[in-house]
Amino acid sequence: MPASEACIPASLLASCVTLVVTRRAYVQIGSAVPESSLLSVHILTPSFRPPMEELLTRTQEREEHSQGQVQQEADQAMATRLQAAAWVQRGQLHHPAGLSVQKISRGIDQKGILANRVAVVTGSTNGIGFAIARRLAQDGAHVVVSSRKQQNVDRAVAALQEEGLSVMGTVCHVGKAEDRKRLVAMALQHCGGIDFLVCVAGVNPLVGSTLGTSEQVWDKILDVNLKSPVLLLSQLLPHMEKRGRGAVILVSSLAAYMPRVELGVYNVSKTALLGLTKTLSLELAPKNIQVNCLVPGIIKTDFSKLLYENEAVWKKFMEYYWVKRIGQPEDCAGLVSFLCSPDASYITGESIVVAGFSPRL
Ligand code: NAP
Repeated sequence: MPASEACIPASLLASCVTLVVTRRAYVQIGSAVPESSLLSVHILTPSFRPPMEELLTRTQEREEHSQGQVQQEADQAMATRLQAAAWVQRGQLHHPAGLSVQKISRGIDQKGILANRVAVVTGSTNGIGFAIARRLAQDGAHVVVSSRKQQNVDRAVAALQEEGLSVMGTVCHVGKAEDRKRLVAMALQHCGGIDFLVCVAGVNPLVGSTLGTSEQVWDKILDVNLKSPVLLLSQLLPHMEKRGRGAVILVSSLAAYMPRVELGVYNVSKTALLGLTKTLSLELAPKNIQVNCLVPGIIKTDFSKLLYENEAVWKKFMEYYWVKRIGQPEDCAGLVSFLCSPDASYITGESIVVAGFSPRL
């Protein structure tokens, strides 16, 4: 190695980036990351570049500052940053102040309006939740997906990582206290904080008449659809507050405005979510956390199969829906990303219908 080049330990280089430190203290950061380390690699983004130009300018301006001293300062700055990067690599440091280091799944640098933000999405291994998780990750967020079944979590995480998105996952039945606790702990441990909570998980047993519904079924529907977002949020709130701004998105249904008789208590739970949105938005506005509600119409998922596969029912729906097609999960996802973005920071307490037509005035 020529005398003009700084000596960087090979072990650090192998796990991070390619560095060339020249006599003029210019640092070039390449992205020669070995394929084997791509599964959970930490990419140093351009803003990682230490203030070498600044040091260089100072060299040119102040002749008394010897080249050796400048080199020493540059080496010191780089060593500090490499050490921080190594900590992140080992999971000891999650949000390094002043460093733009992102934990990603596949070695693709995360950019976008939600970059460096963390989203927890419940019920996100399929349907609407999956589309939301994907969109938030595409827009730069690190996303924690979850649902009741381990194999669904594994499949969803693998599919999204395959697309180069920054995701991790865990099992969480939102109606179970221990699962909610684990979800919160995992998100904090691996992501260092939480900015957005999107509560998609919901149940819809076809129960028929409200008066004929057993107390057990009432409890199940209200526990999952209505209470779980509040209980999860109460655990996440202190951590969201620390981040300065946050967003919560609840998921209701058009059945809140246009109840279907066969859906009974489900209608009631989804109407209650509209009220919950208003109340939480008031309580959390002083903490700079916006609470809004997505209100889907019929969206093509397993959940709504019974409705759209029944020709007679579907025909009836088409009388109300002015956009003559069934909604897709992706139709809901962009709105959620927008509601999480800084562009929506003055929007709270709103319930927004995504149904090809809104029955509201
Ligand atoms: P979906 O395709 O059946 O997906 C439901 C997702 O939630 C799956 O990932 C499922 O995975 C998970 N899940 C179910 N119960 C859960 C629980 N107790 N805890 C945690 N995760 C759970 O359903 P979807 O159509 O996307 O519906 C999602 C939400 O949208 C629901 O709240 C629903 O009320 C609302 N919605 C849907 C429509 C529609 O037409 N599709 C219309 C209006 C409102 P696991 O099986 O692994 O748990």
